[in-house]
Amino acid sequence: MPAIPALASHWIQGKSVAVAGARNQDVFNPATGEASRKVELASTETVAAAVASAKSAFAAWADTPPLRRSRIMNNFLALLNARKDELASIITQEHGKVFTDAQGEVMRGIDIVEFACGIPQLLKGDFTDQVSTGIDNWTLRQPLGVVAGITPFNFPCMVPCWMFPVAIAAGNCFILKPSERDPSAAIFMAQLLKEAGLPDGVFNVVQGDKVAVDGLLEHPDVKAISFVGSTPIAQYIYQRGADLGKRVQALGGAKNHMVVMPDADIEQAVDGLIGAAYGSAGERCMAISVAVLVGDVADKIVPLLAERAKTLKIKNGLELDAEMGPIVTRQALERIEGYIDIGVKEGAKLVVDGRGIKVPGHEQGFFTGGSLFDHVTPEMRIYKEEIFGPVLSCVRVKDFAQAVELINAHEFGNGVSCYTRDGNVAREFGRRIQVGMVGINVPIPVPMAWHGFGGWKKSLFGDMHAYGEEGVRFYTKQKSIMQRWPETIGKGAEFVMPTSK
Ligand code: NAD
Repeated sequence: MPAIPALASHWIQGKSVAVAGARNQDVFNPATGEASRKVELASTETVAAAVASAKSAFAAWADTPPLRRSRIMNNFLALLNARKDELASIITQEHGKVFTDAQGEVMRGIDIVEFACGIPQLLKGDFTDQVSTGIDNWTLRQPLGVVAGITPFNFPCMVPCWMFPVAIAAGNCFILKPSERDPSAAIFMAQLLKEAGLPDGVFNVVQGDKVAVDGLLEHPDVKAISFVGSTPIAQYIYQRGADLGKRVQALGGAKNHMVVMPDADIEQAVDGLIGAAYGSAGERCMAISVAVLVGDVADKIVPLLAERAKTLKIKNGLELDAEMGPIVTRQALERIEGYIDIGVKEGAKLVVDGRGIKVPGHEQGFFTGGSLFDHVTPEMRIYKEEIFGPVLSCVRVKDFAQAVELINAHEFGNGVSCYTRDGNVAREFGRRIQVGMVGINVPIPVPMAWHGFGGWKKSLFGDMHAYGEEGVRFYTKQKSIMQRWPETIGKGAEFVMPTSK
């Protein structure tokens, strides 16, 4: 296990920076409940220092041939692969998720680094010979300058990797503001980027809270912001950033449904629901939090779900047979358990109550068990609001049309899944559902690195998805160049709109 520094500080101009007398806060190990280190919280001045560092590195980096930038990404990829278990262990110790799940998150981040290594191909422009006699026209994509990423606690490696590998490979300089709840993965990656040969200033980290976020948002030299987190903050970042003339993609919260049709393989649907609802303690933006049970499915599946939810192996995530770890903070735990009280008061049937469990040897850890509600209805707060914990709500509907109508009426539209054996139902589901990422017999359909990630409705503000080709477009601007040479220029001024001749 790597020793994690006692203070998670900033990373500016290729080195760790701690500011004397700065504000800080505790970072907890959720499995033990102990405050295991501190994270510094940046002031506006520290943010400005990071922006200045990025700005000074930009001209040379933007001018570096894409193939050379890609070779540095390749070095970073090799280092990440070599040290991925250390990174996963840091994640487990600050986030709480089980180690194998943290390994999976790192791997999905690595996928995007691999994608970014293809930047010479991705930046290749379009060329049209002879748009008019003796004139050619081509387009190229150029980097924006200093860009920033603000990320949530739930994927301290993968979500930053949705952003910085593509941004940097495209020639931008990047400032990452990770979650203050699990800040150390960002510094680990910054060190690897330096070791990979990335010039100082191209990648910076500022630790902090709203002050750091607002410092980035308000800074005139920050040209674009990628945000991933809860919907109210996503909306705020999108609106304020747009007012200030920045390019913004802001990914927000979710309430993901899984429809189980009467013809589905019930065992497979149970496996899918259990993993997607309780994996990572439900703290995934693609977690399934609502099971939409069609026709007579509910009576068959609810007892099977209950049996499995009661027997989840809930432990310190570093124990290799753990299936579910703790919740990230005590406040988050209290909020989740508060929602269970709300559900009971609202009249939903609490089939499995995970509240108040104790894990032997970890009595102070932030643990809750898997909870399961049945007979949840669309008016209930536990249906409408994002709980972001291991709580699965079952809603009973009479048919496929009602399932689609229910999901389409929800304010979020991040991920969705449908379990069926019927190809026509699957096809109709994919076409009609108002959700950005759809799984057919796939519970968590997180798109691969080259496809791009993004929800609809209140799950994404802005129109460009993270990573994939849309990620490349987000971090570059298109320029069109038209060119001719004296030999083909006719004499005399032209006063009419130029057309192809
Ligand atoms: P959060 O919104 O609390 O925090 C996200 C980031 O915003 C953090 O870096 C935090 O420091 C910063 N922040 C928090 N409050 C702020 C404020 N008032 N002003 C400015 N900045 C602020 O989210 P979280 O709890 O870290 O993460 C969980 C949320 O993220 C869930 O809602 C989840 O659905 C969402 N999420 C969405 C996606 C997606 O792809 N759509 C992916 C992962 C997580």
